[in-house]
Amino acid sequence: MSAILKDLKREFPEAETRLQFRNVFELLIATILSAQTTDEQVNTITRALFKQYNTPQEFAGLSPLELEPLINGCGLFRNKARSIIGASQMILERFGGQVPDSMEELMELPGVGRKTANVMLNVGFGKPGLAVDTHVQRVSRRLGFAENDNPEHTELILKSLIPVRQWGRAHHLFIWHGRAYCQAKKPKCHECPIAKRCPGRQT
Ligand code: SF4
Repeated sequence: MSAILKDLKREFPEAETRLQFRNVFELLIATILSAQTTDEQVNTITRALFKQYNTPQEFAGLSPLELEPLINGCGLFRNKARSIIGASQMILERFGGQVPDSMEELMELPGVGRKTANVMLNVGFGKPGLAVDTHVQRVSRRLGFAENDNPEHTELILKSLIPVRQWGRAHHLFIWHGRAYCQAKKPKCHECPIAKRCPGRQT
């Protein structure tokens, strides 16, 4: 694992989140919106959205019918509208207006599962977190680290193999690698910088 991370760091020295945000609440909204949607599309939506609303108070006061047209450029927008409004209301009522910074509390928020909670911990609060999204899962499987398609199981395995201080970095490196080379349909194994270390390489 350490040699793979070293190679990926050399290939993607700038690997970090592409989501644009100015505070942890905006990151939460952007991360909820990002499911099954590209980061670029989320940024397009939030650039306009955050000019109108960007506090828990403002989102908590919206109805789904008011919010949906502002986010309908991303998939699952009806569910996401309900999650954003519900999470904002819970942040106000249960967490004193602040986005919570523990895995357990984050996962109480509507629309927040382990993946989003890990992103919030790591990117938002600078705490250890290793989110397993579709790219991390796929790359981990092909590299032989994931034993099955269960992201929670893969998260545990990766966390056992990677030093805590590198969890967030590894998350971004696997995502960037998954986008650039190890794509779902046609991985570019012939160009891949870690092909010699990969048991799943395709010839
Ligand atoms: S060799 Fe192919 S399957 Fe393995 S990590 Fe590289 S792109 Fe993915």
